[in-house]
Amino acid sequence: KKKQTKQAEVNIGMVGHVDHGKTSLTKALTGVWTDRHSEELRRGISIRLGYADCEIRKCPQCGTYTTKPRCPNCLAETKFLRRVSFVDSPGHETLMATMLSGASLMDGAILVIAANEPCPQPQTKEHLMALEILGIDKIIIVQNKIDLVDEKQAEENYEQIKEFVKGTIAENAPIIPISAHHEANIDVLLKAIQDFIPTPERDPNATPRMYVARSFDINKPGTEIKDLKGGVLGGAIVQGVFKVGDEIEIRPGIKVTEENKTFWKPLTTKIVSLAAGNTTLRKAHPGGLIGVGTTLDPYLTKSDALTGSVVGLPGTLPPIREKITIRANLLDRVVGTKEELKIEPLRTGEVLMLNIGTATTAGVITSARGDVADIKLKLPICADVGDRVAISRRVGSRWRLIGYGTIEG
Ligand code: GDP
Ligand code: MG
Repeated sequence: KKKQTKQAEVNIGMVGHVDHGKTSLTKALTGVWTDRHSEELRRGISIRLGYADCEIRKCPQCGTYTTKPRCPNCLAETKFLRRVSFVDSPGHETLMATMLSGASLMDGAILVIAANEPCPQPQTKEHLMALEILGIDKIIIVQNKIDLVDEKQAEENYEQIKEFVKGTIAENAPIIPISAHHEANIDVLLKAIQDFIPTPERDPNATPRMYVARSFDINKPGTEIKDLKGGVLGGAIVQGVFKVGDEIEIRPGIKVTEENKTFWKPLTTKIVSLAAGNTTLRKAHPGGLIGVGTTLDPYLTKSDALTGSVVGLPGTLPPIREKITIRANLLDRVVGTKEELKIEPLRTGEVLMLNIGTATTAGVITSARGDVADIKLKLPICADVGDRVAISRRVGSRWRLIGYGTIEG
């Protein structure tokens, strides 16, 4: 029998066009409405990455999959299978950078497609392209809002989806009709998650590494200095295990000027607490968003200041790079726009937006030679040779995903 766990073991992305039901589906699965920030509520869209966990359980009597301890069908006590975490990405076209940093944390994804609109919508395409670029091939497609269409429309939409995914990384993904709003067919989706999005094999002895997705100052204004709590990092562990008491290093850290020289200096601190949701942990492994309490001055972590950083044990992290050389793989055409313009080669002097892990930075191409480009970064990154960089270019008034590159140096 599998032991019930407090920490999730796999991260599943919710991706797809704005308003197709990603946040509603996250709510149907986990009970949590992830659009919790006032700005998000006001604008009615997800701006930041939302996280929520649920348990997947199965009824030993009737075989129903559920997130509840009792079977909704026959009331028997259900058996724990796995705790999973959902990363709810924003579907708005201006928020691709956030979607891409979330995608760097996903082990698999659910592509949410509304059945009551023609498929594909622009960000349905752009998000699928992002999964393709980042190599996320454990994909389930849900045909949401099935309550809004009749059987004939549902079938037509299904055919459009099939046609759309032909030849893509999602070609063989299952397509599951659901209504997030009415919580219909969620049991079938839970079974599909078990079948199609397995927990990746993890090496608990690997050097621990975490990508920072959020950072906070959790102190109320006016707190006395002696009562101040240290800075908190929210991120996803990508390998290994972190423990309370570990000394950690954070790169690229902070910009300092010493003896007339300006450079980036890693931060070192200590883990004083670990949390997954409301549960405190003594050690944490990959899966879900982990809150890491540190002894850092909260001034350094407030308002997501350390988003994009990488955390590890001192001396184990990749170098800090202010310039990179990449080998690029560009798409043929811009996706996510109506016109689908042809993508021209990289040009010396042009500005790109780059996503590496959870880091987002602008970069100027100082030299472009065919597929290879030297890029000077606005913000430094902590990355290894061989790491993947998602490349966006300004097309019209927006950044558009145009391909990916591999860091060569
Ligand atoms: P997101 O932008 O993809 O996160 O979409 P939301 O979850 O915020 O949903 C957008 C709108 O669609 C909201 O008004 C939801 O209530 C509605 N919605 C989501 N799922 C369903 C569904 O299954 N059926 C119906 N009728 N409406 C839905
Ligand atoms: Mg949303």
